[in-house]
Amino acid sequence: MKYEYMHPREQLVTIMRRVYGYGMTTTSGGNISILDESGDIWITPGGIDKGSLTEGDIVRMRGDTVVEGTHPPSSEYPFHRAIFSRRSDIRAVLHAHPAALVAFSLVRRIPDTSIIPQARAVCGAVGYAPYAIPGSEELGRNLADAFAKGFDSVLLENHGVATGGRDLLEAFQRFETLDFCARTLINASSLGEARALAPEEIALSQQAKNLRLPEVDPLPRSSPERSLRRDMREMVHRAYRQRLMTSTEGTVSARVASDSFLISPFGVDRSSLDESDFVMVRGGSRERGKVPSRAVVLHQEIYAAQPKINAIASAQSPAVTAFSVTGRTLDSAIIPESYVVLRGIPLVRYGRQFSDEHALAREISPGSPVAFLENDAVLTTGATLTQAFDRLEVAEFSARAVLNAMKLGPIVRIDEAALDAIAEKFGLV
Ligand SMILES: [Zn+2]
Repeated sequence: MKYEYMHPREQLVTIMRRVYGYGMTTTSGGNISILDESGDIWITPGGIDKGSLTEGDIVRMRGDTVVEGTHPPSSEYPFHRAIFSRRSDIRAVLHAHPAALVAFSLVRRIPDTSIIPQARAVCGAVGYAPYAIPGSEELGRNLADAFAKGFDSVLLENHGVATGGRDLLEAFQRFETLDFCARTLINASSLGEARALAPEEIALSQQAKNLRLPEVDPLPRSSPERSLRRDMREMVHRAYRQRLMTSTEGTVSARVASDSFLISPFGVDRSSLDESDFVMVRGGSRERGKVPSRAVVLHQEIYAAQPKINAIASAQSPAVTAFSVTGRTLDSAIIPESYVVLRGIPLVRYGRQFSDEHALAREISPGSPVAFLENDAVLTTGATLTQAFDRLEVAEFSARAVLNAMKLGPIVRIDEAALDAIAEKFGLV
């Protein structure tokens, strides 16, 4: 079900389940609220296990009075109320203590979201609230002051993070994307300096080339199209569960016929998209009334140039992205699986994916099926959807293995003779 149709109680429980389910809060920490059209605030209760929250646990507040609910509101209710009173555009607030963002709050450093254009677009710049005791009016003032400066995501000194949005899904997307940025930056610190993008570089990613495709009426849906839609939905949900994608990032496409493919839509929550959301692109036109991912032009060029490629995926998983934001690529000669599945991985200079799609599509092939896009994502391709998805997972696992190995000692790669033997045994070209 889409969030905009859910009752505030249901939204709060569903989002808290996502936050808890992905290890971004503890049983006791974290609270979420929604300001409704009457001015009442719906909020999670204090002292209730976040892992087993139900709709009956949610509290409705009018000013300082409980008007519905059997529990007291979260002890952090004062700062939720303070934020709503200072920012009329914010209708939902999410607060928690995810480990990566807490780490930033301990060293009093603000995670830079301009390492990735999408993260910057979702979170904006991040504000900072000085320490005050939890539940106090002072913490409420510190936090509301930061939101009043226009920040939608605020780091709480020696505490955690709070995000706001026009609705709860937007507040959650900011929270999740900021957590992803923090995890990426922590991983990147082992590799070198993460490069922040300049505003004009970020603007390059925001060109709406997807909207420039003409619209066309869809043909009657074929059986292969129907099964592809189902497989793609499953793949995106799985990638989300495996934390290879976030709610706002990750694209999948699959070829339907020589001149048509299905691609994931622009701006739809990856965890709740369904088969009807995928957009058919046929002969360079998009299915009427739907907006494909901004990567549609690059995918179109790859399908045109590479007849053996039938599926493409891209994702910002946190270990791979640590490489791409530091301008590093991964040497796949670490274990046979990585070498066979990923092959040589080129690093694509930032911006080419938005402006040089035609040439870039000719550098990707069945023999060079994966690329790291600088300050962006990993791009994988395959003869099938499963193969493209497997490459996404293997890329992330390999990047994670290298990051872990660097903490243990110098990495020893597989030697050339052993690589030749792998190439022969697996028929690599
Ligand atoms: Zn807290």
